[in-house]
Amino acid sequence: MLNHTSALNILSIHMISIKEISSATWHHLKVDEVLDKLQTDKETGLSSEEAKKRLEHYGSNELPEQNKRGPLIRFLLQFHNMLIYVLLAAAVVTALMDHWIDTWVILAVVVINAIIGFVQEGKAEEALENLKKMLSLKAHVIRDGKRHEIDAKTVVPGDIIELESGDKIPADVRIIYERNLKAEESALTGESQPVQKTIEPVDKDAVIGDRKSLGFSSTMITYGRATAVVTGTGAHTEIGKINTMMTEVEKLTTPLIKQIDEFGKTLSFMIIGMVAVMFAFGYFFRDYELSELFLAVIGLAVAAIPEGLPAIMTITLALGVQRMASKNAIIRKLPSVETLGSVTVICSDKTGTLTKNEMTVQTVITSEKAYNVEGTGYAPKGDILYNDKKVAADESKTLKKLIHTVQLCNNAEVEKDGEHWKVKGDPTEGALITLGLKSELKTDGFKRLDIIPFESEHKFMATLHDSENDGRFIFLKGAPERLLDMCAAQQTDSGSEDLNHDFWKEQIEAIASKGERVMAAAIKRVDDSVSEIDMDDLKTDMVFVGLIGMIDPPRPEAIEAIKTCQEAGIKVKMITGDHVATAKAIGEQLGICDGKEAITGSELEKATDEELIEISRKYDIFARTSPEHKLRLVTALQAQGEIVAMTGDGVNDAPALKRSNVGVAMGIKGTEVTKEASEMVLTDDNFASIAAAVEEGRTIYDNLRKAILFILPTNGAEAFVILAAILMGIALPITPAQILWVNMITAVTLALALSFEPTEAGVMKRPPRDSKSPIIGGYFLWRILFVSLLIGGFTLMLYGYLKSEGYLLEEARTIAVNVLVAGQVFYLYNCRYLRDSVFKKGFFANKVALIAVGVLIVFQMVFVYAPFMNVWFGTMPIKTIYWGWVIGAGFSVFLLVEVEKWGFRIYDRRKQRAD
Ligand code: ADP
Ligand code: MG
Repeated sequence: MLNHTSALNILSIHMISIKEISSATWHHLKVDEVLDKLQTDKETGLSSEEAKKRLEHYGSNELPEQNKRGPLIRFLLQFHNMLIYVLLAAAVVTALMDHWIDTWVILAVVVINAIIGFVQEGKAEEALENLKKMLSLKAHVIRDGKRHEIDAKTVVPGDIIELESGDKIPADVRIIYERNLKAEESALTGESQPVQKTIEPVDKDAVIGDRKSLGFSSTMITYGRATAVVTGTGAHTEIGKINTMMTEVEKLTTPLIKQIDEFGKTLSFMIIGMVAVMFAFGYFFRDYELSELFLAVIGLAVAAIPEGLPAIMTITLALGVQRMASKNAIIRKLPSVETLGSVTVICSDKTGTLTKNEMTVQTVITSEKAYNVEGTGYAPKGDILYNDKKVAADESKTLKKLIHTVQLCNNAEVEKDGEHWKVKGDPTEGALITLGLKSELKTDGFKRLDIIPFESEHKFMATLHDSENDGRFIFLKGAPERLLDMCAAQQTDSGSEDLNHDFWKEQIEAIASKGERVMAAAIKRVDDSVSEIDMDDLKTDMVFVGLIGMIDPPRPEAIEAIKTCQEAGIKVKMITGDHVATAKAIGEQLGICDGKEAITGSELEKATDEELIEISRKYDIFARTSPEHKLRLVTALQAQGEIVAMTGDGVNDAPALKRSNVGVAMGIKGTEVTKEASEMVLTDDNFASIAAAVEEGRTIYDNLRKAILFILPTNGAEAFVILAAILMGIALPITPAQILWVNMITAVTLALALSFEPTEAGVMKRPPRDSKSPIIGGYFLWRILFVSLLIGGFTLMLYGYLKSEGYLLEEARTIAVNVLVAGQVFYLYNCRYLRDSVFKKGFFANKVALIAVGVLIVFQMVFVYAPFMNVWFGTMPIKTIYWGWVIGAGFSVFLLVEVEKWGFRIYDRRKQRAD
């Protein structure tokens, strides 16, 4: 006799080999053969034990990561950079000239630079990896006879999975049951037209695109639903075999960074040209020694090339994206970080995004009576009242039918989780389940045979049920206007009568204008032979049973966020599938519409594209819309030059999301298809997170610009000092090694501090950035030049003075270096606000900046006073009194820049008034 363990062993021994799995013609086999071969059961699925074993045997359902550069390659790539080449050349030249100390210093700096770059890049990549992990794919499997949601990575061959429209297929599968299943397989075949799927075997030699009985990993379900058995996972899927998907390693970049990269490259070439010219100039017109001249021009190159800039921008971006994620907005496409900062219109869904999506039924209306329902949330506590008195649900046949309909035509469950009642599934449906529980009506005798799922275009859902002793019924629930169109009769306690359109219209309007979501129900008795339903079955003989109104309160934080957006010059528009009166009432509460009228989908339908432009500007609330209206609205808004962020959750929202400038998908209730089409995913589905992301987007953009505005004048000042020295034919006020020191030390301290710069207080009080305005405009160039001359000028002046007073070269240079550094420290504080005065705001808000300055001071002390540094860098301890000069110079830079900012603020204001 076999005991338990050996039976399992036999199973494992017989586990179909990976080779067999990949070579089997699953599309050609019949469903039963497939299930047999994979040793699984279509009702109960695998046991969780078996699944665990299979996971060990077949491996995790992941594609091997391609193109992921190893640490060594990443480190070596740090040396692949124009400046490093210049520096290496400098090292060779100094070595040839026997200036060995310089050689070693240069080489050390090169290596340290590479390490810094390597670490920062690593951090940035890690931040992105973490974002990806937050968006991991889920799969619905049947195991041990129950439905589970699991991480798609743990899906194994033989797993029975359920698929519905909007899903991304997690593995290669053979379809074993389907209803109207369509999949879009462009990821694999390049064909963007959805393919109709079937359970029937197809020809053995069918090409991938024709294997209609299969579903492929990474492709999308666009319509219908299915049950399928997994035939291949991980690398053993079709997509794994062709190895395409995963090669897209996202670059850490945005349009701004790209532009700066380009700018940096051009600048490097210009600098090299300038170096050549200066070399010739020094050689012919000044009497430098050749070796000294060499060092001077190398110093010039080192000074002028802003080598730290790209790394600082990357890390600024990565830190910003990480901050956004901590505020529940996950960026999928990095360039959109910048777009977020220039968004002018946010089009948002209502339910769940602007409202809490915590539905509670309040009103029930039948042709006989109007009832109120007590209670809040999903807890089945509260009575059904008629004229303020408790009634039993079976007091009226119509009421009983109405509640039965919405209980049965339902996919949700509510369950007690500790003290709290929670909904599993659609909250709208959860509220109806709770109503059912409050009514204490039982639904045991009914068995569900078929379903037409809810879809935003149709706005209804239907099920076919068999009741033990009363025959079969279609239960229908959905938007009341739709249902009224489908019915000719209405339910009464004594039977049925002609539909009273006007009565219902009035009731609908009354419920909706309270801000409640209205749902209607209808039923139809069908023949016992009917076992499937489709749309046509709903066209005749449906009987209207009544209305249900439920509240869904606005999110308080959304009200705040809408106000913030409006102050920031961003228009907020609500696009909903709900009734126009509901939409308006909620819009009023949210502060969106300000008494303005709302418009409905059917009116949008009638409008031409030209009219729509006008409509999209005029209205803020769009009700009873379908997903395709969203696409038209985005297009119309964009035609007026708006930068549009658009939210969405359903499959059919994908085109509108793609079209919008920033597509925003819902992380909780959103489908994979919408997430895939989006730029950003909200982990909490909350409108407030969009506003937070916009704010963060503006901050990142500011910080990127601040980094540019800080770093370029640093290089400018250094270059200016060297350039002036060569032109005047004097000894260099700072040596190349010293310049390297300054650059390295300020890059890891000061510049990095700007990445941590907190959001400026007024960032959501100013209008969106014009997406077409140039990044380095006239003002930027002016500022860079101005500050370069200021810092460089002070350095030169002090150096010149000290030299003329007969100070040692080493001493004068040490002081010059410190003036340069002090100028940068003080200028960093100017840069914390692009245009505003630093005095107005918290001077110490950026802790990182304080720490950076502290660290920098320690470094400078070592640089000046440590004997070994004196040897390496040719520095010399200076008298305490000179620190006063150094700080004085730095402070002067600071004051002068503030004066300049003040001047421009006045100029700005004048100009504004003139406009
Ligand atoms: P929203 O923009 O608020 O998400 P939906 O498209 O989800 O709008 O819903 C539009 C209308 O469809 C609702 O007002 C309601 O009448 C109906 N409806 C919503 N959910 C369901 C459902 N699960 N079953 C049937 N009808 C529904
Ligand atoms: Mg909805």
